[in-house]
Amino acid sequence: IICNKEDVIKAIETNNVKFIRLQFTDIQGVVKDVEIPVTQIEKALTTGISFDGSSIEGFVRIDESDMVLKPDIRTFAILPWSKDKGGVARLICDIHMPDGRQFEADPRYVLKKVMKEAEEMGYTLNVGPELEFFLFEKVDGKATTTPHDYGRYFEFAPTDLAEDIRRDIVLTLTDLNFDIEASHHEVAFGQHEIDFKYGDALATADNVMTFKYVTRTIAKLYGLHATFMPKPIAVENGSGMHINLSLSRGEENAFYDPEADMEISETAKQFIAGVLKHIKAISCISNPLVNSYKRLIPGYEAPVYITWSGANRSSLIRIPSARGKSTRVELRSPDPSCNPYITFAAILAAGLDGIKNGLEPGRIMDYNVFDLSKKERIERGIDTLPATISESADHLENDELLKDTLGEHVHDNILRLARAEWDAYRTQVHDWEIQRYLNTI
Ligand code: ADP
Ligand code: GLU
Ligand code: MG
Ligand code: MG
Repeated sequence: IICNKEDVIKAIETNNVKFIRLQFTDIQGVVKDVEIPVTQIEKALTTGISFDGSSIEGFVRIDESDMVLKPDIRTFAILPWSKDKGGVARLICDIHMPDGRQFEADPRYVLKKVMKEAEEMGYTLNVGPELEFFLFEKVDGKATTTPHDYGRYFEFAPTDLAEDIRRDIVLTLTDLNFDIEASHHEVAFGQHEIDFKYGDALATADNVMTFKYVTRTIAKLYGLHATFMPKPIAVENGSGMHINLSLSRGEENAFYDPEADMEISETAKQFIAGVLKHIKAISCISNPLVNSYKRLIPGYEAPVYITWSGANRSSLIRIPSARGKSTRVELRSPDPSCNPYITFAAILAAGLDGIKNGLEPGRIMDYNVFDLSKKERIERGIDTLPATISESADHLENDELLKDTLGEHVHDNILRLARAEWDAYRTQVHDWEIQRYLNTI
């Protein structure tokens, strides 16, 4: 394990590393990367490396654009590919202002701030995400939406054509210090899932970013296109990123209470209540694309209603049956197009709000909400997730807790991007409209 500068230098020498990729994530959840030759590592680890922040989406204005990348030593890892010109390593970086202050809109910093608040209350958040993705064929180097295979859930050879690819992804991730728990074919043709072990929120958010580029890179080596687009095919399951959450207090799982109803603690219920309270605003962060909302419809194992339940997969929050150390709640709405740092920050802040204010999550849903009529849902007080990114943006705009959590800069930029996304969409005339109206109206 790498814990200080000397460890990094030593690992660089032993592995014949020639280049270091310094990485960070913009507000939209896109990895940014600058490569330095190994001769610059000393400087990178002491003073940091300067860059122009004005060209990064959602960062800064042109007149205050000098920023500094400071590598987080614990994220050092050797990239397992392209060794022919010497090894390549990566370091994930924090972003600082030239005067040394942390940059308030750095997604890692936004998350660290909420983690600190949790720590002050005695809690550590554990996060275990489940990323789903599609493998599509390429024609003339261009991605299509033709699935790579016609396998279904847990399908096995010969229908599942991606066993080797998934294994290659798993081996590469293992080289990058991931602890892989399982991998399998998912419900849709060409759809897969690889699960890795939960960890603290920051390390897990870093892992989500790494997971995505490793998956894309390995797929590319097989001549395929991997995509984390939430809903690439209208009549098939979309790709979610369920987030499993628990709080530890010292060695204890604070969500477990063997004496309580369902064996889940009051703290867990309050955390759930906080997430339910803020979920409409969180959606603008955890489901940031126009396309995200095409996944959140009935019939495809994705949530639509704001409910919590035991094992029922149709609800927004599910409590998987494991207890003891594995007691956790699973939030099912987020999708893998989100920025994981800001998403985890928003969820944690919402959960802590539930705990601080002793909120109650309301009745557990022990029946299928999708069987109820709209009238019955209203009678039972069952609310619905936002139907569009525009609706989510309105909720985020008015959520004071999340405004505080994100800081004004990130809050404003997320709203601006969400509304620009919606305007870009609604000002187009889509093929669906032509098919539907051209000949009939
Ligand atoms: P599902 O029941 O939805 O199929 P999986 O088994 O695919 O769930 O995924 C479980 C995820 O939950 C894994 O990432 C796992 O590491 C994580 N997990 C297990 N225990 C905890 C816990 N106590 N806190 C947070 N995440 C956990
Ligand atoms: N693909 C489903 C979704 O969109 C989830 C399937 C599952 O439960 O694993 O969330
Ligand atoms: Mg799944
Ligand atoms: Mg799940």
